[in-house]
Amino acid sequence: MDAALKLIPPSAPPLEGYRVLARKYRPTKFSQVIGQDFLVETLKRGIEGGRLGHAFILTGIRGTGKTTTARLIARALNCKEGPTPEPCGSCSSCETIVQDRSMDVIEIDAASRTSVDDMREIIEASRYKAATSRYKIYIIDEVHMLSKSAFNSLLKTLEEPPPHVKFIFATTEIQKVPATILSRCVRFDLKRIESVTLAAYFKKICEEEGVTFEDEAIALIAKAAEGSARDGLSLLDQAMTYGTSHITAIEVRQMLGLADSGLLLGFFQDLMEGECAKALETLRYFYQEGMDPLRLLEDLLELTHWLQCLKINPNLAQELSLSAEKKERGLTLAETLSIPSLTRVWQMLLKGFEELKRAPSPQKALEVLVIRLTHLAPLPSLQDLLEGTPLKKKS
Ligand SMILES: [Zn+2]
Repeated sequence: MDAALKLIPPSAPPLEGYRVLARKYRPTKFSQVIGQDFLVETLKRGIEGGRLGHAFILTGIRGTGKTTTARLIARALNCKEGPTPEPCGSCSSCETIVQDRSMDVIEIDAASRTSVDDMREIIEASRYKAATSRYKIYIIDEVHMLSKSAFNSLLKTLEEPPPHVKFIFATTEIQKVPATILSRCVRFDLKRIESVTLAAYFKKICEEEGVTFEDEAIALIAKAAEGSARDGLSLLDQAMTYGTSHITAIEVRQMLGLADSGLLLGFFQDLMEGECAKALETLRYFYQEGMDPLRLLEDLLELTHWLQCLKINPNLAQELSLSAEKKERGLTLAETLSIPSLTRVWQMLLKGFEELKRAPSPQKALEVLVIRLTHLAPLPSLQDLLEGTPLKKKS
């Protein structure tokens, strides 16, 4: 428990001139885009063969690189050396796009400009040729936010766009975009980025920034990012501004409001062995540490699921961001528990989760759940009953 008690210094204010990681490491080439290999390959081929069409729609959860990809397409199309999948990066067009000041690449946030008049303005302007580049490119972010009439006014231009115009739409909610619009666009789906890919990426950034780390710490951040590079990078930013040049798992756990995994394993073991008093004591400790009861239940659910996977196939359990030593502890724990009893625990935790949400005092509800769990321990499984195996004494 000592290690987890270590105090975290209050987060230091960002250094002057400090650029957030997501900005600093925004890809400027297709080859730097992570976790979207298929999309990148398709785009590259399309640009090379000049078969890209005039309207695209990029869809995917937030932070997977939609606007970044949109800008990369814009660069690829407008580079003086191109259109080329490998824009030079140094011509006037490439430079102005990177600095967000190209007159011919117009970015619009549909969330704030939803009206017909806004669209009319765009359509009006699209008649005129690009000022200095090959194409006039409209990037419309969160396009699903446009009003119905705004979509309708856009439709005609999409049907017969002037040859110098390209539209790139981005959206997190493709199902809200009318079919009439979709049918006129080439669609690209950005995938949730796998946590292994994210972790490798974050490690590379740490190295560039001269920051050392524990593997477990980075794995935790990658997992909490839930497939979004941007979310992950802002967590990494936070971890770095804790002031140290070494990122530890304990700090990251505190930052994310996660229980220390060693402590959590011990807590789970106490629950399974019916050690009620001990479990309640740990629970109070978690509470003092500011841990949210629901969050703790989520952790317990995840641990139960992980232990079940371990029992079925240890390879299934590689995903969880734990150190080798803790994985070993998990394996030992999994061996002592049966699938039926883990399933029972899972059901009780899940039921408890709902109860906690409704309870006037979630903390007390959690205590009651802990008492219930510790008193459930030695129920025999159905198979044991059928085979007449005598009850095993809890170890
Ligand atoms: Zn260029």
